[in-house]
Amino acid sequence: MIVYMVDGGKYFSLDDALKLGLQTPRGLYINLTNRCDNDCVFCLRRTKEMMKGSSLWLEREPTVEEVIAELRAVPWSSVSEVVFCGFGEPTLRLAELIELLRWLKKNQPSMPTRLNTNGLGELAHGREIAADFEGLLDVASISLNASTAEKYFALTRSTYGIGAFEAMLTFAEHMKKFVPKVVLTIVDKVSPPEEIERCRQLCSARNLTLRVRPFEK
Ligand code: SF4
Repeated sequence: MIVYMVDGGKYFSLDDALKLGLQTPRGLYINLTNRCDNDCVFCLRRTKEMMKGSSLWLEREPTVEEVIAELRAVPWSSVSEVVFCGFGEPTLRLAELIELLRWLKKNQPSMPTRLNTNGLGELAHGREIAADFEGLLDVASISLNASTAEKYFALTRSTYGIGAFEAMLTFAEHMKKFVPKVVLTIVDKVSPPEEIERCRQLCSARNLTLRVRPFEK
């Protein structure tokens, strides 16, 4: 599925969500890629059964035109926000992501937009990308995962090595200049309370906002 809704940890096509009578309005998720430059120990993509069984696993990456064709059919009164998320990392398809955000802002100007990201887009593209989102994105939700570079690397096994943690935090700081709301997230089940507290202190020291969220993707 390219465009989907989520309920109780399950994924539904828009048609199914509406047929089943899921409460709306709710978030509409857009899935652009399976690829990711992390290999998190808790990632759902790692579960082979899930990968094969889940209709979120894309056989191929959709074009911008294919996504827009699905968006044109959306009953927008059933949607509260549009979230770029998916199995993989959306910023690996930065050009397509920006084009779709531009389409949304033009065609659904009052619809809030959110990006769920691992925050490594600047490493992936070798440049600062935060300004690309100016005027297009309302919320950036960035996975913090841990309070230190070592713990982060142990959890994410990032392609970029130990430096990924600092790059992710720097990206969050860059995004604050261009996106109205930037939150760093940590998953409650993955982190003990003391680690969550250390993450709070880290975010506070860098003037960043932390959100502790339940495990989901
Ligand atoms: S960043 Fe997200 S998609 Fe990538 S490996 Fe980690 S949990 Fe999976």
